[in-house]
Amino acid sequence: MLLGVQRLTKQYRGPDGRVDAVSEVSLEVDAGHFVAIRGPSGCGKTTLLLAAGGLLKPDDGQVMVEGQNLYSLSPEQRAQFRAKRIGFVFQQFHLVPYLSVLENVRVPSMAWPMENAAARAQELLEMLGMSHRLHHKPDALSTGERQRTALARALLNRPGLLLADEPTGNLDRENAEGVLQFLTQFAHDGGAVLLVTHDDYALGFADRTIKMREGRFHSASEEATDETTNEANVS
Ligand code: ADP
Ligand code: MG
Repeated sequence: MLLGVQRLTKQYRGPDGRVDAVSEVSLEVDAGHFVAIRGPSGCGKTTLLLAAGGLLKPDDGQVMVEGQNLYSLSPEQRAQFRAKRIGFVFQQFHLVPYLSVLENVRVPSMAWPMENAAARAQELLEMLGMSHRLHHKPDALSTGERQRTALARALLNRPGLLLADEPTGNLDRENAEGVLQFLTQFAHDGGAVLLVTHDDYALGFADRTIKMREGRFHSASEEATDETTNEANVS
């Protein structure tokens, strides 16, 4: 088990009272596996993903990544663990606008220096078909190229876990397929991928799909009646 989420619960307190964003969700993802969670907007996908990646402390429950209990670490230790072992990809890319493609991909190595970061960045960009865009700024890229840049950045430190939040939400079909194939390859090479989406298209690439609604995973019996989903693993 590379990622283990146990009874994770997160609530927000907003102007209209309490929001139960994620309620007692449990999930395991093994190395070599690509798991997708699908659910409508507002069902808690981003909250779950951020908590699973050490970016948002849950109110209750545990997150284990490669045997490490993320929220037993201090915030500094957690940031360091995250930088080394967890990659994130978001729908909005979150590239630094004034840095080139190559510099954006090297950003993680600025916080936590690593050997051969420049060579690794070039190699990843080459694998992603970006060799001809190394010195472009993000606003001079297509959306597909922006997401490939963000993917290279996420993989710079050779993380074990890749977390993807609607990574194809802003992409056309062809670019979406390229990104999803890359995520599939990452899992085949021994990584673990957890992707959340409201879009059915990404689901065909995952080994396992879980449906989420109102902060919870669907039960197995509900799942069995729905033919659009291949398999569910609900704890
Ligand atoms: P999804 O990614 O599936 O769209 P989110 O995890 O972003 O869902 O949000 C789950 C619920 O929590 C939504 O009802 C949302 O409005 C609420 N929510 C998200 N972030 C906050 C926040 N910072 N403060 C208050 N409520 C929030
Ligand atoms: Mg979201």
